[in-house]
Amino acid sequence: MIVRFWGVRGSIPCPGPKTVRYGGNTSCIELAMPEVSRRIIIDAGSGIRELGAYILNEGTITKQEKIKIFLTHTHWDHIMGFPFFAPMYMPDAHIQIFGPRASEKDSLEEIVGGQWTYNYFPVLQKDLAATVEYIELKEGEYDLGMGLRLKTKLLFHPISCLGYRFEYKDKCFCTLFDTEPFKDRDEIIEFVKGADLIVHDAQYTEEEYRSAKEGWGHSYIEYALDIGIKAGAKRLAFFHHDPDRTDEELDNLGNNYNSKEIESFFAKEKQEVVL
Ligand SMILES: [Zn+2]
Ligand SMILES: [Zn+2]
Repeated sequence: MIVRFWGVRGSIPCPGPKTVRYGGNTSCIELAMPEVSRRIIIDAGSGIRELGAYILNEGTITKQEKIKIFLTHTHWDHIMGFPFFAPMYMPDAHIQIFGPRASEKDSLEEIVGGQWTYNYFPVLQKDLAATVEYIELKEGEYDLGMGLRLKTKLLFHPISCLGYRFEYKDKCFCTLFDTEPFKDRDEIIEFVKGADLIVHDAQYTEEEYRSAKEGWGHSYIEYALDIGIKAGAKRLAFFHHDPDRTDEELDNLGNNYNSKEIESFFAKEKQEVVL
């Protein structure tokens, strides 16, 4: 499996001279399994725009090759890139959008598809050229076919938000964002046990979190590190960087928080990790 980061920021895109190296796009990760020509996308933040262009360039769009997008949740920074995801406008594309239902009242389709209304965008959902399917997920286990398995876990966030554990052959890739620290850490450690890579919410330092950010739905770096080490993970990527963090600050945090017990790094846009 190859993991590619297309957007690593939380909350809002933050392009500019201070974020050139880590990137300014919001959440979007590609999980590629080239040997079986499969691709999974996690989240549709602003980073998905460039991934869409990359997929078009590859020329791999067919009705048979369904594009599977797993949304962690429907907060805007995780879905804002959808209207600019070029395959949505390709008649040959079949796109499956998986994700949790945010509330009893609103379906996944209503919330995500609601971006294609004239109040927000000049194209309507019914006019999209691609075949688009919405599939709601709950906490549980799913067989995605061709040897790919998925486990989901409800995280600690103001709306329903899922952590993902993808298993393929002997490799395991996990995402834990957006989430605040779990009071019972063992519960979440069990979920990501033995992962080859965990991508973890690390928007704040512990000091920032404790001074003003409790209840905002995000974790701190020290907590993410503790979960990664106790889960026995091979690698840990700090993710969902605060939009105010500059490249220099992220470099410094990377130097301050490296541990001998686990290989950790602050995720960068366009970075590729082979599992
Ligand atoms: Zn977010
Ligand atoms: Zn969120």
